[in-house]
Order: sequence, then C-alpha cells, then structure tokens
Amino acid sequence: MAHTSTAGPWTVQDGADLYGLDRWGDPYFSTNSRGHITVQPQGERGGSIDLIELVEGLQARDLGLPLLIRFDDILEDRLERLHAAFDRAIAHYGYAGRYQGVFPVKCNQQRHVVERIVESGQRWHFGLEAGSKAELLIALSLLNDPDALLICNGYKDQRYLETAILARKLGRQPVVVIEQPDEVERIIRASDHLGAAPMIGIRARLSTRSTGRWGSSVGDRAKFGLSIPELLDTTEALRNAGLLKELRLLHFHIGSQINDIAVLKDALQEAGQIYGELHRLGAPMGFLDVGGGLGVDYDGSRSATAASTNYSLQNYANDVVATVKECCEPSGVPVPTLVSESGRALASHFSVLVFDILGTGAAPDERPEPMDDDPLILRNLHETFDGITTANLQEAWNDVLKFKGDALSAFRLGYLSLPERARAEQLAWACARRISRLLPADDSSPEELRNLRASLASTYYGNFSVFRSAPDTWAIDQLFPVMPIHRLDEQPNQLGSIADLTCDSDGKLARFIQGGQSKPLLELHSPKPDQPYLIGLFLAGAYQEVMGNLHNLFGSTNAVHIRLAPGGGYLLDHVVRGDTNSDVLEAMEHDPDLMLERLRLASEEAIREQRLSVNDARLLISHVASSLQQATYLQG
Ligand SMILES: *Cc1c(COP(=O)(O)O)cnc(C)c1O
Repeated sequence: MAHTSTAGPWTVQDGADLYGLDRWGDPYFSTNSRGHITVQPQGERGGSIDLIELVEGLQARDLGLPLLIRFDDILEDRLERLHAAFDRAIAHYGYAGRYQGVFPVKCNQQRHVVERIVESGQRWHFGLEAGSKAELLIALSLLNDPDALLICNGYKDQRYLETAILARKLGRQPVVVIEQPDEVERIIRASDHLGAAPMIGIRARLSTRSTGRWGSSVGDRAKFGLSIPELLDTTEALRNAGLLKELRLLHFHIGSQINDIAVLKDALQEAGQIYGELHRLGAPMGFLDVGGGLGVDYDGSRSATAASTNYSLQNYANDVVATVKECCEPSGVPVPTLVSESGRALASHFSVLVFDILGTGAAPDERPEPMDDDPLILRNLHETFDGITTANLQEAWNDVLKFKGDALSAFRLGYLSLPERARAEQLAWACARRISRLLPADDSSPEELRNLRASLASTYYGNFSVFRSAPDTWAIDQLFPVMPIHRLDEQPNQLGSIADLTCDSDGKLARFIQGGQSKPLLELHSPKPDQPYLIGLFLAGAYQEVMGNLHNLFGSTNAVHIRLAPGGGYLLDHVVRGDTNSDVLEAMEHDPDLMLERLRLASEEAIREQRLSVNDARLLISHVASSLQQATYLQG
C-alpha cells in the first residue's frame, strides 16, 4: 500500500490521509491518538466525541448495529454556516436585500430532523419547502413562524391549493409556486372560492443546463417550470384575475449537486433578467428563489466532478449575491430577498451509518507443499512460484496462466484428480499474490498485472443493506466516503470491496472516493478475531433514508440523535428503533400472529406423527416468535 509520508512507522495521520478524511471530513470528522474517528459536531467551536466510544455506549444501551447516528449539532452548524456565508456576501457586496432560506423537506422528512431544523432555524426565520401534499402537511404542522416562508412546490390539486390559501389566513407565509401552465387557472378558482389568495411564485424553466446527474432537470424538456411564453401568459392571467399583486417570487432549480459553479452563474443571470422583467410587468415580486443544487464535496477533491464541487459555500453565496445585484441594479429593479432551497448541503453531514464486518472472503493465500508424486503441471507451477523475481513478473504471470489452463484441460480429460486440480488453483493464486506483492507501487507495470490486485482482493461482508441505507450508491452510482472508524494507527494490509447482507449481487460497495475519481477497492485491515471491525459511511444524511427500500426485507436501522452535552460528553436525545421483522412482514401484508399460529398447528401435527419432539417444537416456536420482535439485521 502506498505509504507516502517519509519513511517511518505508520501514524494515525497516515491513516487519515489514506482515506482523505481531512479533505471531506473537515471540520466535523477527525482522528484521535487512539486511531479512532472523532466527531466535532460544532466544528472548531465545540467538544469532540470518540465515535468508537459512542458506538460502544449505544451498544451497551441495547442499540445494535447497524446504527444511523445523527449529530443534531452538525445540522445546526450547517445552518449557521449557510447564513454566515450569505451574511458575509451581503456585507461584502453591499447588497441591499437579505437572505432567507428554506429546507426542502424531501431531502429528509424524518420528524426529529425537520423539527430540529425548524427549531434551530427560528432565529433566521428559516422556512420549509414542500414538494407534495404530505410534505405540505409536515410543513404546516411544524412551521409556526409568520415570517418564515413555506414554499409550495410540486403537483397541486384543489385541496393542496386551498390548504395553502387557508394557511395564509392562519398566519403562515405560504408561497404557491406555479410549476405547470394549468396551475394558474386552479389558483384563480381556489382564490375565488375562498375569497383569499396565497402568495404566488412562478418557476421558470431556464435554458441554462447543469452538467452531471441532474442536468436534465432544466432545459426545454424539463418536467417542471414555465417556458418564457408560458410565463408571460401566466402573468397576464394573474393580471386579469386581479392576482398580479400576489406574484411575489421567481423560482428556479437547475438540479441537485451542481458540480460546476459556472453553470450556476449562467442560471442566475438568466433568472435575474426574468425577475427584472416580471417586476417591470407590474408584479410586486420581492423574492428570488435559487432552488437547491448547492453541492457537497463528497470526495474532498474540490473539482467539478460528480462527487465534488469546484466551489465552497462562500463562493456559492458570493455568486448568488453578486450576480443578482449585477442584474438588478443597472435597471433600477429593487434587489430581492434571496431564497435558497439547499437540502443536500444542509443535511448530508449530520448522519453517519456505522456497521460491523461479519467476515471476509478472499482468494487463498497459502502455497500448497510440493509432493513427491506431483504431476508435471503441479511441478511446473511450483517452479514458476520459486522463480518469480521483480525482473520477470510478466513472464512469470504468462507461465502461470499457461499452466493453469493446462491443469484445467488435464482435469477435463481425466488426467488430474480433483485434489490435484485444487492444488493447481491454489498454486496459481499463490503465484498471483506473490507477483502482485512485487509490483511497483506506481502505475508503471502493465495493466494486466495491475488488475491482479483487484482479482486478489477480499470481500468484506457488512451487516447492512445498501438498498436500505445507501440506495444512491446502487441507483445512481453516488460516492460516499467509506472508511474504518478505528485502527487508523495501523497500516491496512488488505484491499477489499464491501458486500451487504442482501442476496443481490448489486448489494455492494465497490466504488470508493479517490480525489475526483473513484477506485474499485478500499484499503482495509484484517479483522481481528476478538474485536469488531467497524466501518463508517459518511455524509449520507440527505435522500438516503427515504429512498431506501425493503429489498430482502431488511428494514430501517436503529437511529439515534446525539448532541454534545454542555459539560462534555454527549446526550442521547431520541432513539428511533429500527424495523423489526414483524414490521417489515406487515409492510408486505403478512400477519405475524397468523404466521405463528400456522407454525404452531404444523408443529402439533409433526409432534403427533413423532417427527418433532415437544421440546424442539417449543424451541422452534420460540425462535420464530423472538425473531419477529427483533431487528432485521444480524445480531452480534
Ligand atoms: C430536490 C429539490 C431541492 C433540493 O435540492 P438540493 O440539491 O438537495 O439542495 C430544492 N428545490 C427543489 C424544487 C427540488 O426539487
């Protein structure tokens, strides 16, 4: 393994460097002298929690792995950083308006999460964005601040619209964003019907396209937003209905995880001009909502690649403020209050998934002993093994492949026994391993030889489900930082990928961050027999929970909310128990009581027919009954 620091013993810092921890984890994740990951939920300002001690403390409370640990202080810190960045930009550019953000609920709808955001965001009148009726209900029940915005996006039926209008009478500040051309008529009808109107926004379909995964969220064929002609028609329709005075907000959203800030600038300029036009058409306006898209630097490479961003939070705020100012001032348009719907950037950092490794599988390492009566093919392989030197790696590998092929042919023709074939394969693996150990650390050797490393890699079996806890790794090839959360003071001696518990060959982590690119294998340690080996999957607080599914009936994991205690240590605020087997079975319409009853009847019959003892029947029923009450993951 490349150990790049000047020769000397492996240090914790080498471990941190290997996984890029300081690049993506700063300021929340770091290491201590014990080689453990530590969490600084308030960044540089507050205390530190040893993640291993935390996991042990939770396990002692019967909260088994896998565990989703939510650090609520990180959520609050992200909110603070977002506001501080906009405040600095506003001061720096002498912007005559302010920033007032909302959290897009779809990013993480968990009650404790939304509650925490609303509570922490109160001092800035931070609001919520709803994209469906159910999310509107969440926003309506949790947001109790007349100055906070409640942005209503998504498809809206009459009841959604009327609920939003009535929410305004209740004293909230809902903005109904027109995303489809036909919505304006329904807003007019609902307003007539209730004799009141909501605040109205329009979502523009910009022609500026984002690159990357969500690039098609904009442009002429986008699912949402009004084209320029539709936007003008809508404005006229509002004017004719006497509702133009309620048109307050222009919204756009050019897709999540904007990698390249140049794209954002183009979109802002386009939106800034449209905003000015709407103002000139007589709409009072007041808000420009730049949508989501503020990215997360998952791999710490600061590049315009999929798992990264080529800008910081401050760059983002600066560009929003400066560009909008440049658009408005020359034409005398009063600058708007700036709204963003930053979800990923707020909610990614605060949760960490920790799971244990149940075992590993790897190609065999042992060289079988030479035997006197070894057939020629085996003797050839032994000879090849003994002759491997740094000078003949390619030649030796060619020989190995040749002899391995010979062994297979000989077996097919009946000249090699099964044990002899097994020894030939073991010898071929042993040669491959020896060759790969002698390969230079740089990329100078032929690709075929470099690929040997991957074929010799280990599979680490993790106690989790990719489909439940990190679905985007499977669905859209998203990268998250993944690394052991302890033993960072030990140099890893294995390369491996991580397989999950499902019976699905896609259920694995086989792409890992690597400075703007990805790599198929992760440096890992050999698990010790008497010690769990714990892996953390980081920056997964956005989208993963709700997108996760019940594949193979692995349910939600235990989740906990952790806060720094004022005097040091931590507080365990909420425990959200993971699904039991009963829960996931019921989700599929099975009836656990009925299942037990059927089993009881079947076992009575087996007892009568003397196939099963009463004692074994009792044990079987008791195993099934307790399994129903337990988590869906493997118990330690
Ligand atoms: C998904 C979405 C967001 C959130 O995007 P992030 O990239 O997570 O910040 C904001 N606004 C709208 C309209 C969305 O659809």
